[in-house]
Amino acid sequence: MPPLPLDQLPVEGKRVLVRADLNVPLTDGQITDDSRIRASLPTLRNLLDRGAAVIIMTHLGRPKGAVVPELRLDPVSRQLSDLLGQAVRKLDDCVGDEVAAAVAVLKPGEVVLLENLRFHDGETKNDPDFARGLAALADAYVNDAFGTCHRAHASVVGVAGLLPSAEGLLVARERRALDRLVNDPKRPYLAIIGGAKVADKITVIRSLLARVDRLLVGGAMAYTFLKAAGHEIGASLLDREHLADVAGLLKEDRAGAKKLHLPVDHVAVTAGRRESSLTDGVAIPAGSSGIDIGPRTIRAFSDLIASSATIFANGPMGKFEEPPFDTGTKALLRAIADSKAFSVIGGGDSIAAAHQADVADRIGHLCTGGGASMEYLTGAPLPGIAALEAAAERRL
Ligand code: AMP
Repeated sequence: MPPLPLDQLPVEGKRVLVRADLNVPLTDGQITDDSRIRASLPTLRNLLDRGAAVIIMTHLGRPKGAVVPELRLDPVSRQLSDLLGQAVRKLDDCVGDEVAAAVAVLKPGEVVLLENLRFHDGETKNDPDFARGLAALADAYVNDAFGTCHRAHASVVGVAGLLPSAEGLLVARERRALDRLVNDPKRPYLAIIGGAKVADKITVIRSLLARVDRLLVGGAMAYTFLKAAGHEIGASLLDREHLADVAGLLKEDRAGAKKLHLPVDHVAVTAGRRESSLTDGVAIPAGSSGIDIGPRTIRAFSDLIASSATIFANGPMGKFEEPPFDTGTKALLRAIADSKAFSVIGGGDSIAAAHQADVADRIGHLCTGGGASMEYLTGAPLPGIAALEAAAERRL
């Protein structure tokens, strides 16, 4: 049974606990991209307009169960308050007597933001006591944190088992867009996977290969693939731990459908000197490390983009935070925007780059969850969605 839609959850005069994903990037305490806060507004406005008192919870960064002052949510509450156009009181914790007292006096139409959930390790451990502490604050629960739906955490899964629960508008919108890719996508279906962490993506790449027609690997991850394919990668980032896994995947692909495409040239930098040059071909000279895809790769990848009917992209093609090493990432995003394909890009880095390249409004859907979107596309049930489905079932 699908999750309960937001508008079917009775909320008037009730206290509603909303799990949002307000995990925004911060530099020196300043929010550098508030897309995730903006994406949470429709659900919050819906609840407030219908006479709910709203208690928002989110994580920020990876404090690993301890209070990290730089990861307190004060900047998030200020920005949320500005965007929402009303006061948002930030509490100093997310469970406990003081929080309960502050929440007890909330009136319909008022909003509080709980402190960073991950200051407690019960959050990531899905500790039942911690989940009970959160659930005790409210009469109903809404999950609008698509970006964390692939995590079986207390605020995502535990709480949904304890309160009447519904799916937020953002989660519903993300699922509608991604379902177009999961159920009978128009072909050719192309996936572009970038970024640095092979460990996070290797399993997903394996599953996606069964669904897509073409899969392009770029970013720092690609060097582990190139090394596994027998190429010189100089001093580029290499994930030795997953090298054998990647080699196995490449071998299967080469022997079968040949869907995997790797960079054929690179922008490389020499150690320390920060001087960049283009490689002649696929090999990266000793002492240099790859930092972006090269022009021939951009052309080859752009051609594949132009001839695809469905496109999913996640992760940057290079160290895009440091121009000019954003060239490959932005060039591919422009190619996606120019193509006729239905396109979805997933994750904070890709969304930020799409805004920087000024093409965000020409992408089919910008998905706030990077990891969550990739896992959703493999067809595996996300724990957060499964918990909402179970809650809907319980209601009958
Ligand atoms: P991930 O979290 O795995 O999606 O990785 C994203 C990060 O990968 C971004 O911060 C990029 O700067 C970084 N990245 C991508 N390609 C490269 C590269 N060639 N060299 C260094 N960092 C890279």
